[in-house]
Amino acid sequence: MPHDPYKALYLHIPFCVKRCAYCDFATQAIDRASVEIDEYIENLSLELRRTSKEGKLASIETVYLGGGTPSYVGAKRLSLLLYTLSLSMRLEPDVECTMEANPESIDERLIADIWALGVNRLSLGVQSFDDGELEALGRVHSADDARRAIVAAQSRFDNVSIDLMAGIPRQDLASFEKSLREAIRLGVNHVSVYPLTIEEHTLFNNMVLAGTMEAPDEDLQADAMELAAEVLGGAGFHRYEVASYARRGYECRHNKAYWTGVPYVGLGRSAVTMTQNSERRMRVQDGRVIEELDRASMLVEDLMLGMRMSRGVSESALKQATELVPEATNVFQSLEELGLVRHIEGRWMPTDRGWLLGNELYGRIYDLTL
Ligand code: SF4
Repeated sequence: MPHDPYKALYLHIPFCVKRCAYCDFATQAIDRASVEIDEYIENLSLELRRTSKEGKLASIETVYLGGGTPSYVGAKRLSLLLYTLSLSMRLEPDVECTMEANPESIDERLIADIWALGVNRLSLGVQSFDDGELEALGRVHSADDARRAIVAAQSRFDNVSIDLMAGIPRQDLASFEKSLREAIRLGVNHVSVYPLTIEEHTLFNNMVLAGTMEAPDEDLQADAMELAAEVLGGAGFHRYEVASYARRGYECRHNKAYWTGVPYVGLGRSAVTMTQNSERRMRVQDGRVIEELDRASMLVEDLMLGMRMSRGVSESALKQATELVPEATNVFQSLEELGLVRHIEGRWMPTDRGWLLGNELYGRIYDLTL
């Protein structure tokens, strides 16, 4: 089908030094010297060239190298990949190019290399600044490693983001607050705050099932998310998405593309490509169509994704959806009565309570597709 141009590109690097206890991402723990990594990066580079020749990268505005742990594969392999990327698309400073990195596998040398090759945003997997909590998560870095990595990253990058987690075993609100304040002290410009969730096929899931670990306390996590909004908000960050806080101008444009129905190309193992035109939306993973939406479902999905963002959705987006799914406006009105959304200045926006009760908020909108 003729489709809208892709605007975002995701490159997946599915390798880590060790699998963390909570992780269900598409990644594998592997020796850094393994030829499997060389072959993967070479294939990914070829896939990039092919995708470029097919004209699919002509309008890309954001790039994201995620994983796994991209920094784990080292400077030589990343140089090949980033050099290929620079040959394959317009990689100018106005194109946001993010790379994920973990504190133990990044140093000033690697930072200088990836900066020189076009990366302009670093996202560091910190999770906590408490060594006991990091150990509980099965992370291989310490809080000091994280501090060093942030300072090193800031020697080249203005745009540095970190991830923090709420609900870690051994964590309480006071230690979570310490991590938030440490992020602020270190001067990062973007913080993502996630509640720990227990996923199937993870060590934590086995531990919860065996009774050797308690499932995260959801009330405590909700308190932590509120605390994050208060502490980061007080330090000049704004919460532009349910889990994302940024100083003005440092919002992640790539993630915003996912939440606003922008078509994206995903390259590498398990990466998802979303293709669409005005009538259909399709997601493909590893060569298989995993989802197809007609226009009505697309519009509803956009409403649901829009509620992840503080700006919500426009009245006209809801009106358009209501033409095909007549119940849509009623559902938003009932969400307003429940205090989960508010309707102001021509937009429908989530409330803090809506974000806190996210399953209810997103679930009711999702049900419109059934
Ligand atoms: S470093 Fe990230 S991707 Fe790798 S195992 Fe840990 S959480 Fe998963």
